[in-house]
Amino acid sequence: MTEPAVQALLDGLTRIVGPSHLHLRAAPQDTALAAWENDWRRRSQGQALAVVLPGSTEEVAAVVRLCADAQAATGVSIVPQGGNTGLVVGSTPDASGQQIVLSLRRTQAVRAIDRANLTITVEAGCVLQTLQAAAQEAGFLFPLSLAAEGSCTIGGNLGTNAGGTQVVRYGNTRDLCLGLEVVTAQGTIWHGLSGLRKDNTGYDLRHLMIGSEGTLGIITAATMKLVPLPAAQLTAWAAVPSLDAAVALLALAQQRLASGLTGFEVMGQFALSLVARHFPQLAVPLYQGTPWCVLLENSDHESEAHARAQFESLLEAALEQGCVTDAVVAESLTQARQLWQIRENIPLAQAQEGLNVKHDISVPISRIPEFVRHADALLQQALPGVRLVNFGHLGDGNLHYNVQAPEGCDARAFLAQHEEAINTLVFDAVDRFAGSISAEHGVGSLKIDKLTRHKSAVALDLMRAIKRALDPTGLLNPGRVVRP
Ligand code: FAD
Ligand code: ZN
Repeated sequence: MTEPAVQALLDGLTRIVGPSHLHLRAAPQDTALAAWENDWRRRSQGQALAVVLPGSTEEVAAVVRLCADAQAATGVSIVPQGGNTGLVVGSTPDASGQQIVLSLRRTQAVRAIDRANLTITVEAGCVLQTLQAAAQEAGFLFPLSLAAEGSCTIGGNLGTNAGGTQVVRYGNTRDLCLGLEVVTAQGTIWHGLSGLRKDNTGYDLRHLMIGSEGTLGIITAATMKLVPLPAAQLTAWAAVPSLDAAVALLALAQQRLASGLTGFEVMGQFALSLVARHFPQLAVPLYQGTPWCVLLENSDHESEAHARAQFESLLEAALEQGCVTDAVVAESLTQARQLWQIRENIPLAQAQEGLNVKHDISVPISRIPEFVRHADALLQQALPGVRLVNFGHLGDGNLHYNVQAPEGCDARAFLAQHEEAINTLVFDAVDRFAGSISAEHGVGSLKIDKLTRHKSAVALDLMRAIKRALDPTGLLNPGRVVRP
C-alpha cells in the first residue's frame, strides 16, 4: 500500500500533467518503466517512483514545486531526462524507488528562428536531429553532430555540454548557446532566453547550468546559434604512419584550411579492424598497412571545386612531408557518408566484440602521442594481451581510449576483475599529462567518486558551494556530479 504522503504526491502530479502523462509501476516486477529506468549502456537498472512528462515549462515548474513541498515527508527527488543516451549513468533513477524521472520529451517545439540574429529557440525535448533539420530548412547549419543525434535532445546536450565531431571548428554545445530558460530547484522559472552575443551583467548563469547534468536546474528551452550553410562539405580519409604524424597533419590542415576544417577524427588500426570484422559491408579503406587513419572534413563557403582543390593541395603537401602515406577524397556525398559511418560504427563494432571499458579523456593535443605511448605500455605491462580501441576527436585533444579484454577471454569476468585497475591506470596517466578524465560524457554517477582524486580540493569545494546554494535540499539529481 502506498503511504498517504506518497499517494498525495502522485495525485498532485496527475493533476498537473494529466493521467496519461504520469507512468507508474503496476506491480513490483512490472517492466513498463524500463525505458526510462535503464541507462543506454545497460550498466544500471534503476527503480523509479514514477515517470512524469510535463507538456510545458509551467508544468515543469509545478512538478518541481510539488516535489519540493513533498520532499521532507516522502524523500522524493527528481532525475531530469532527455533522450536517455547519456553514457555516465546520470539520467536514470537509482534503486531506491523514491525518485521521479522528469522527462522533457513532450516539450519539443521550435519556438522561433531569428534569421538576422542567426539564432533558433527550441524547447529542451527537441531531438537534436529535428533541430538540425529545422535549421537546414531555414537555410542554416546547426553545427552540433554526434552519433546519438537521432534520439538525444538539446536539453540533454546542454545538460552534458556534449561535444561531437565538429568541435574543432564550432566548439562544444556550450559555445553554441546564447540563452536558456530554466526551472530552478525551488520551482521558479528563470527567463534567460537571450539571443545576445554580448552581456556582461554579472555571473553567467547560462554557463553554470550548461554541463551541470541536471543537478542545478532543469533546462526547458534554449536559444542556440546558427551558422550559414556551407556551399560544400568534403570528406577525406588519410593513412598516417604515427600519431605524431596525425598531430602534424592537424597543424597543416589548420593552417591550410583555416576555419574550413570542421572535422578531424583519428582512428587506430585495431578500432578499424573491429568495424571491418563486424560491418564488412562498410569496406574500411586503407587501414591494413597503417597504424592510424584520419578522417578530415572541409566546409567551404565558395564551391565544391574550391574545396576539392584545397583538399588536394593539403594532402599533396602532407604526402611530401611524410605525415600522410595514402589518402582518398570522397567523390560524392554518399561516399562521404560511408566514411563517416565507419567512424560512427566504431562504438557499435566494439560493443559487438564484447564488454569493454570506455574512456573519453583529453590531454593537450601536443602531448597526445606521448600519452598514448605511456598508457599503452603501462596497460600491456599490467594486463598482457589487452586490446586498445583508440579513436576520437584528435582536433580537440579528446580520445576515446577504450580498453577491450584480450582475444578469447571472458570479457565480463575480465572487466569484473580489472575495470577498477584499468580506470586508475588510465586516469593517473591523464593527470600526468595535465588532462581531463572526462572530456565529453560528463560525471554522472559513474565518475562521481573519481573526482576526489582527479580534481583539486578547491575546485570541488567551489562546486559543492554552488550546489548547496542553488539546490540546498538536494532535490535535483542527487548523487550525480558532486556530493554536497
Ligand atoms: P540524457 O541521457 O537524457 O541526460 C544526460 C544528462 O543530462 C543527465 O544528467 C540528465 O539528468 C541531464 N539532462 C537531460 N535533460 C536535461 C534538461 N532538460 N535539463 C537539465 N538536465 C538535463 N557525447 C558527446 O559529448 N559527444 C559524442 O560524440 C557523443 N556520442 C554519443 C554516441 C552515442 C551512440 C551515444 C549513445 C551517446 C553519445 N554521447 C556523446 C553521450 C551524450 O552525453 C549524449 O548523447 C547526449 O548529450 C545526451 O542527451 P540526452 O538527451 O540523451 O540526455
Ligand atoms: Zn566522442
